Amino acid sequence: PTVNPATGEVICQVAEGDKADVDKAVKAAQAAFRLGSPWRRMDASHRGKLLNRLADLIERDRAYLAALETLDNGKPYAISYLVDLDMVIKCLRYFAGWSDKFHGKTIPLDGDFFCYTRHEPVGVCGQIIPWNFPLLMQAWKLGPALATGNVVVMKVAEQTPLTALYVASLIKEAGFPPGVVNIIPGYGPTAGAAISSHMDVDKVAFTGSTEVGHLIQKAAAQSNLKRVTLELGGKSPNIILSDADMDWAVDQAHFALFFNQGQCCCAGSRTYVQEDIYNEFVERSVEKAKARVVGNPFDFKTEQGPQVDEEQFKKILGYISTGQKEGAKLLCGGSPAADRGYFIQPTVFGDVQDSMTIAREEIFGPVMQILKFRTIEEVIERANDSKYGLAAAVFTRDLDKANFVSQKNGNENGNKMGNLGLKGMLPDWCNEQPRADGGKQSLRDLL
Ligand code: NAD
Repeated sequence: PTVNPATGEVICQVAEGDKADVDKAVKAAQAAFRLGSPWRRMDASHRGKLLNRLADLIERDRAYLAALETLDNGKPYAISYLVDLDMVIKCLRYFAGWSDKFHGKTIPLDGDFFCYTRHEPVGVCGQIIPWNFPLLMQAWKLGPALATGNVVVMKVAEQTPLTALYVASLIKEAGFPPGVVNIIPGYGPTAGAAISSHMDVDKVAFTGSTEVGHLIQKAAAQSNLKRVTLELGGKSPNIILSDADMDWAVDQAHFALFFNQGQCCCAGSRTYVQEDIYNEFVERSVEKAKARVVGNPFDFKTEQGPQVDEEQFKKILGYISTGQKEGAKLLCGGSPAADRGYFIQPTVFGDVQDSMTIAREEIFGPVMQILKFRTIEEVIERANDSKYGLAAAVFTRDLDKANFVSQKNGNENGNKMGNLGLKGMLPDWCNEQPRADGGKQSLRDLL
């Protein structure tokens, strides 16, 4: 069953693919990839034309696909139509343009040699995608794989299979040869695992949770050592320095967390605010969260729809209660927002400490954590003290500070910049920097 998260009602039943279906799909993909097949003989520019044709068909059926996405996933229709579908179409056109522009190198060698590299397709690409941006995840995976002449076996998320299956019909209509793209609805431990452990899948690309990422890499290692690409979870710091434009920073921090019901891998889910602006920032963030319009995702005024399913809904409410138990201050929200469906009130926690569960684990819901900091040095260390490393942001009007903070991503000394003598490591030119206004400023003093 696939469920409408706004009501909890079943939309329809979807066939459940399993290992036998993955085997069939892999065989079809291999046949499509055989030397001499239409796909292998096709000019690269023609592959680009097919991808553009697919983008045209998605554009033609844009309203239908946006509605289906909203029905199955719960995201507001206006967002599905204006954001997701826009990015899907642009993504496919972008990779269509790359189709005939990948090339290798000629490498000058000493002696009488001619040395060059060619880029060849990998072969059968397994692709396993999540439910938070079902169509966009599909486009991000299909675009590059097809532009470069690969064949695909894709497992879509069990929560949101409908739009991917519709796109499968458009792939056929666009004229891709049979077997080039195979879409399988089904569950992770069965169909998903069959892809990651398959001996004839040459590469697997996965987006989803860190836990499953471990399983995928392990399965790849234990089968044929297939190539692996993983895009996993995050607990991304969003650092607001006291000189930031307050209106802009409050708006962006709100968007960074609440967009897509908080279901973004790169959500800014640890909002670090410098102490002198902390109170005002918190007050305004709470006002903004309270004003967020939650409700029927097909209503044009709605900014936040339901969470994708009951499991995520319960998990998020569990994190909210853990946050309260561990002493974070619940400033607004914290409860279900409707009698039915998986709606959660926009929630803001203040006085969050780094050690709390809600500051360390990915909540993947509309729950904002605001943490106070004093100095730039301190926040760099705290921001980097995470097992995740997906995204980060800094808000300031000072470009020196923006560049300085954004380069301290933990690469130089592992994840710990801290008190390793950051000031001592700065080169001499950091002592005094001329400023545009004619004055001088020391980067050391900024620390
Ligand atoms: P998940 O990792 O369980 O599922 C993602 C995809 O992997 C789905 O298609 C699923 O069927 C498949 N899968 C599950 N188990 C598998 C296995 N053993 N072998 C192969 N494939 C398998 O993610 P979820 O349960 O949908 O969400 C859980 C958490 O994952 C979320 O709370 C969030 O933290 C994170 N998440 C991250 C992203 C992202 O974009 N990085 C997207 C969705 C979820």
